[in-house]
Amino acid sequence: IVVSVLKEEQPHEKRVAIDPDVTKRLIKAGAKVLVERGAGVKSYYSDAAYEQAGAELVDRTKALSEGTVIAVVNRPSDETLKALTSGQVLIGLLNALIDPDKMQQLAAQKVSALSFELLPRTISRAQTMDVLSSQSSVAGYKAALVASDLYPKYFPMMITAAGTVKPAKVLVLGTGVAGLQAIGTAKRLGAVVSGYDVRPASKGEVESLGATFLTSSVSNGAGSGGYARALTAEETEKQQEELAGFIAENDVIITTAQVPGHKPPLMVPATSVDNAKPGTVFIDLAASDLGGNVAGSQPFETVTTDKQVMVVGASNLASELPHSASQLFAKNVQAVINAMLDDDGNIAIDPTDDVFSGLTATTAGEIVNARLREALN
Ligand code: NAD
Repeated sequence: IVVSVLKEEQPHEKRVAIDPDVTKRLIKAGAKVLVERGAGVKSYYSDAAYEQAGAELVDRTKALSEGTVIAVVNRPSDETLKALTSGQVLIGLLNALIDPDKMQQLAAQKVSALSFELLPRTISRAQTMDVLSSQSSVAGYKAALVASDLYPKYFPMMITAAGTVKPAKVLVLGTGVAGLQAIGTAKRLGAVVSGYDVRPASKGEVESLGATFLTSSVSNGAGSGGYARALTAEETEKQQEELAGFIAENDVIITTAQVPGHKPPLMVPATSVDNAKPGTVFIDLAASDLGGNVAGSQPFETVTTDKQVMVVGASNLASELPHSASQLFAKNVQAVINAMLDDDGNIAIDPTDDVFSGLTATTAGEIVNARLREALN
């Protein structure tokens, strides 16, 4: 196979889908790797590093026309999608469910599209392929660092000759993969940390990191597949009221709450932002064009209110640690490539396999993923 690594097109994206280390591993396993010139520069992987790993540096046209597997972080532009041809495999975060029509278009072109958001994450064989987990973990870590950087006081308690400084109080709302990593990082920086989630199962995970779990009456929010369910309007209101007091007494609030297939739940309404102490930092990992967990958060922007409260729209924090994030992303891509090759090293996507029936948006002209099929009907 020929694996092509494309340069990302989004202005905020610093990651690359395959790093030089995975390049070397793919070549060792018999693949040829084509890297679009400059693809790794923003994540501090030089063209020379890819060359040393055995890759051939090419322009975009050649990467697109000669690759049998095209690896990307984000779904490429329409122009790039149109250039793909029958039999090629596109792997990345393709946003299949958000834009199902693009997948239909790829199916018509007989391109196989593997979209990481569709991966069935609870199957153990899929864990090495789980981009959502690897990137959420990076984002959670970085969230605590960004918060500590913006926060105008110390995170740890400091006992000095000039007096004692109290530790920062950090509250993490939504304690999945990103939230737990944010908790661990804030703890290591010396903050006093608490966490909150609607899935009761997360209580033990929060407490095992040495943080306090906040109990709310809205704590029966487990949905299917380990995810949260969407709350009703009444539950959301109750949750906002119950969290208001906790938010007001904390210094840093990191929010990560997501519900698959829904817009992110608003956990911090405008009144709670308004009542926060001056210097409070909100980091909203759910900030998106659809809204986020914090009222007024703007994707990719930091808003400072007239009460000196900072609201960070942390829409793509994994990209702010691009070297490590890409290293992990590349390992996830490699795991997918390994799993889709037959014994002779040829591409053989089995749409009935329990991992590939989920991960595969389209192959051989057919829409494979059941949720995507539903979205298209
Ligand atoms: P996510 O990104 O979908 O959401 C982040 C967190 O927000 C979740 O913990 C969710 O419960 C929480 N949340 C949603 N709505 C909320 C609300 N209104 N109030 C408070 N919290 C709310 O979740 P994720 O990080 O992808 O992880 C979801 C689950 O999947 C976790 O249990 C995780 O451990 C599990 N998981 C399992 C595997 C595996 O088995 N291999 C892999 C990855 C994740």
